[in-house]
Amino acid sequence: PSRPARGPLSAFLTVQEGCDKFCSFCVVPYTRGAEVSRPVSAVLEEAHRLVEAGAVEITLIGQNVNAYHGRAADGRQVTLAELIQLLAEIPALRRIRYTTSHPRDMTPELIAAHGAIPKLMPYLHLPIQSGSDRILKAMNRRHRAREYLAIIEQLRRARPDIAISGDFIVGFPGETEEDFTATLALVRAVGYAQAYSFKYSPRPGTPAAEAEDQVPEPVKAERLARLQALLAESQAAFNQASVGRKVEVLLDRKGRHPGQWLGRTPHNQAIHVALGRENAFTDARGGLMEVEIVEAGPHSVAGRPLTPVSDSRAA
Ligand code: SF4
Repeated sequence: PSRPARGPLSAFLTVQEGCDKFCSFCVVPYTRGAEVSRPVSAVLEEAHRLVEAGAVEITLIGQNVNAYHGRAADGRQVTLAELIQLLAEIPALRRIRYTTSHPRDMTPELIAAHGAIPKLMPYLHLPIQSGSDRILKAMNRRHRAREYLAIIEQLRRARPDIAISGDFIVGFPGETEEDFTATLALVRAVGYAQAYSFKYSPRPGTPAAEAEDQVPEPVKAERLARLQALLAESQAAFNQASVGRKVEVLLDRKGRHPGQWLGRTPHNQAIHVALGRENAFTDARGGLMEVEIVEAGPHSVAGRPLTPVSDSRAA
């Protein structure tokens, strides 16, 4: 058979679509419908195709990916943790990630997978949206801040170096200064490596859009600025703490400068590495490389190559 066309080194694979959670601000359950998981065989076939085309990293995606419950050939329901284990058995696949997850679907089995499966990267995007139990209830998230913090603690017990990322909405209807302060406290407690934060904006057709206690725009803007300053501090501290770490990074894009390559660390930090002739990639797509993190910035880190790259490592 002819060799498949060369695909990207890092590929996305949809395993699940839709969502049954009905967070009160979100349109996904209305626009994308109920949760549907792809059968295990379909996921594995696609993963094999991606790996044959050159992917060394696969990110499993779904609106609520950790609710995955696809059918195996024998009709049994397979969890996301089991699916990750099956994918980890593909020898040429080196890195696995998944996104986006809901705290309520972080099962003990999935948490344990972070400690048990080395190919599962030490990074998890786990949105909480607010640190206030009152607001979490109004958002219909169906968990409290302390349950989220307990999950983070269990994840860190399973995989001590795991990097946590999150999503936040500020100025949700009814959010008081006290609620917002609880969000800041949670951010400090978690120590996020990355995070996305937004001002609440009403989505037509969702319950929260109908709420009467909308937060005035200037208050939202002021809270967002305070939250983003704290998150930036947290990300910079995480990057700074990684200086000196030796990690295998996936470099898959050329940078602006001669010999410069860009990619991601296992902890999903953006990294740039300057390669000399002795460790240049023979494959123009890049590859995996052992580096030492030597410098940290607010949004990225810089690495120094530790090993010359052989052809096999570059493929
Ligand atoms: S925010 Fe996420 S979990 Fe909540 S309804 Fe939307 S897609 Fe589902």
